[in-house]
Amino acid sequence: MSDFAGERARDVIRAEIRQMSGYQVPDAAGMIKLDAMENPYHFPPELRARLGERLAAVAINRYPVPTYTALKAAICERLGVPAGFDVILGNGSDELITLLTVAAARPGASIVAPVPAFVMYELSARLASVRFVGVALAPDFSLDLPATLAAIERERPALVYLGYPNNPTGNLYDDAAIEAVVRAAPGAVVIDEAYQPFAQASWMSRLPEFGHLLVMRTVSKLGLAGIRLGYLAAAPAWLEQLEKLRPPYNVNVLTESAAMFALEHLDVLERQAAQLRADRDALAVRLAALGGVEVFASQANFVLIRVAGAAALWRALLERKVLVKDVGRMHPLLADCLRLTVGTPQENAAMVAALEQAMAAARRVHPIQVSDARKAP
Ligand SMILES: *Cc1c(COP(=O)(O)O)cnc(C)c1O
Repeated sequence: MSDFAGERARDVIRAEIRQMSGYQVPDAAGMIKLDAMENPYHFPPELRARLGERLAAVAINRYPVPTYTALKAAICERLGVPAGFDVILGNGSDELITLLTVAAARPGASIVAPVPAFVMYELSARLASVRFVGVALAPDFSLDLPATLAAIERERPALVYLGYPNNPTGNLYDDAAIEAVVRAAPGAVVIDEAYQPFAQASWMSRLPEFGHLLVMRTVSKLGLAGIRLGYLAAAPAWLEQLEKLRPPYNVNVLTESAAMFALEHLDVLERQAAQLRADRDALAVRLAALGGVEVFASQANFVLIRVAGAAALWRALLERKVLVKDVGRMHPLLADCLRLTVGTPQENAAMVAALEQAMAAARRVHPIQVSDARKAP
């Protein structure tokens, strides 16, 4: 029976998919969870109670109204979408990336993005049989502008993605370099502003300057990862086409209601983001003081570090109940890199202490390796 099922699945499922390995998410139960850029804070108790009342009143027996007019208007008004522009909503920005890729997937189409970058750009391309062309960043993670412009000239990509700030490096690309990319791109340029609350920089206000600029954001990193809501701001001509691909009820009524509530209390989330920005900077200082740890400047709610033996340290942190992200095998530029989400001050302190202990233990076992790492650039 299972042999038959396996053979039939092999016949039916495309080779590209059979060759993929599934997305591995370690069990985080009982862990200090600093692997996924979640906001560690919730609404205060009285607001949680009011949110509960609001959600209890939602008509979950009804389909959503698929135009989402009120939520879209609230997003445009509260989150700075320029007049004359609108948004399309997604079940997380992950879904918007999929919609964009599918919409652009004509034969021969390509997608260009600097790498390392958010994995969904490449994954969605592969699933839609669209060629993905990654252009390596410079070693300091700035855009390699000549290489990016050359790839755009050669590939004539339908889509260019730019993380602003980029994940997993945490930096903002230079605005003049982005502008050069936008001016050169023959298709659409999607600025992915998932970390905008922590960067306080945005291309949203520049939408009117470029008809082929699209600005994508999510409420996930701001503190609402569980409700799954992303939005893409663009000129109506783009949205009119993309709306044809959007599953009509892709944002559920509980998400819609929770998002409206969150927008009414945006000040609370903004205060949390400010706290996380300050704690990020304090965390970076602490990490740099450990010695043997290279800390990359971040404008997001995570800090990327390079440390000798990162993969072994990741396992040692796991044993100490601290879950971070080992990005060392994602791209050669990220060799020996770990991505650390900024949590509460207590979580950050526990993570730094665990890292310090793990490094000391590694030094006892491999004294030579660690002294070599100190000399590394
Ligand atoms: C987390 C993240 C997203 C996806 O966010 P969701 O809305 O949760 O799907 C998109 N882009 C980047 C760069 C991210 O880091």
